[in-house]
Amino acid sequence: MRQPQWGRLAMNPRSDLNLPHRISSLLRRRFGAFEKLWEQFPDNVFVIRCEADGRFIVEAINPALARLLGRDGEATHGLPLDTVLPAEQFEAVSQHYRQCIALGQPMHYEETGGPPDAPPQHWHTLLVPAADAQGRIEYILGISRDISALRRAEARLRGANEALERRVAERTAELEYANACLTELATRDGLTGLYNRRHLFELATHEFSRATRGDHPLSLLMIDLDLFKAVNDRYGHAAGDQVLRDLAELFLSVLRQSDVIGRYGGEEFLALLPDTDAGEARQIAERLRLAAASCKHGLAEPCTLSIGVAHYDPARDAALDSLLQRADLALLKAKSTGRNRVLVGD
Ligand code: GH3
Ligand code: MG
Ligand code: MG
Repeated sequence: MRQPQWGRLAMNPRSDLNLPHRISSLLRRRFGAFEKLWEQFPDNVFVIRCEADGRFIVEAINPALARLLGRDGEATHGLPLDTVLPAEQFEAVSQHYRQCIALGQPMHYEETGGPPDAPPQHWHTLLVPAADAQGRIEYILGISRDISALRRAEARLRGANEALERRVAERTAELEYANACLTELATRDGLTGLYNRRHLFELATHEFSRATRGDHPLSLLMIDLDLFKAVNDRYGHAAGDQVLRDLAELFLSVLRQSDVIGRYGGEEFLALLPDTDAGEARQIAERLRLAAASCKHGLAEPCTLSIGVAHYDPARDAALDSLLQRADLALLKAKSTGRNRVLVGD
């Protein structure tokens, strides 16, 4: 049986014809195959004649392009391009053709168009210039592929990605907020809302090292409710709790923004007074004591405070513990000398 022409050409390694020659010779001999390719090729194929006066004349358009233009392909042969294309499209493509002629090289680009009332269409177009014997560009051959579906899919994907990124950003913000709430909760005492003992120590350590580094004054107030057990015994634990909450509020209202107050233990509180010398610390402690002594919380008697004051002394306080201990000693002395008083440690 005779071998098909195409197979023989492709298989013959000794052919001295280069590929374009082999293809054109094949097409000449097998014109029917080329015609089928031209008719069935799904992309738009066109051949444009470039006139010396700068006009573009349609030499041939394949059926795919004829369908797109709504024209009879054969009937467009020899027509000036501006009678075949809508005016704005003609302007855009002629600009590309002129660029291709100037370049004298194949070039490709993307164009967007289509009817104004429909979604935009996108084409990827390749132009190949063909010169005559004198080197003048005589024809432009072009293939234009509809890539609208690809571009629409990309746009959908971009939209989906953006939505996803927005969602992730929202979730991250929610998580950060939840995290901040948890951190806040972890630093607070459940009953009074003041800082808890653990966080109070962290802040005290920070303030202490600030004082040692910069030689800033720092004072501590160790505050203990007087005879609080008796309040519980007389009015009940719930009333005692309310007294603790009321006093916590009172402390916050009397202390300054820069001061730190927390619940040190049961009915004991610790205030850190940065940049405060011993005299100022005593005054603040007195203010607290007087405020507590004038507030009855609906009970028969006010719940008074004993307060021990200690002021940071670089010569004596090598560590925070030493300062705390001196405040504690001052508090014990305040208790042992009659309660409802402020005592500054020596
Ligand atoms: P002092 O003047 O010597 O400090 O006498 P005090 O009664 O305050 O001291 P004591 O240490 O004998 O008793 C402390 C009381 O504080 C006992 C305890 O029931 C009470 N207390 C501690 N924590 C809480 C609390 O969270 N709620 C209530 N209602 N009472 C508490
Ligand atoms: Mg007490
Ligand atoms: Mg106590």
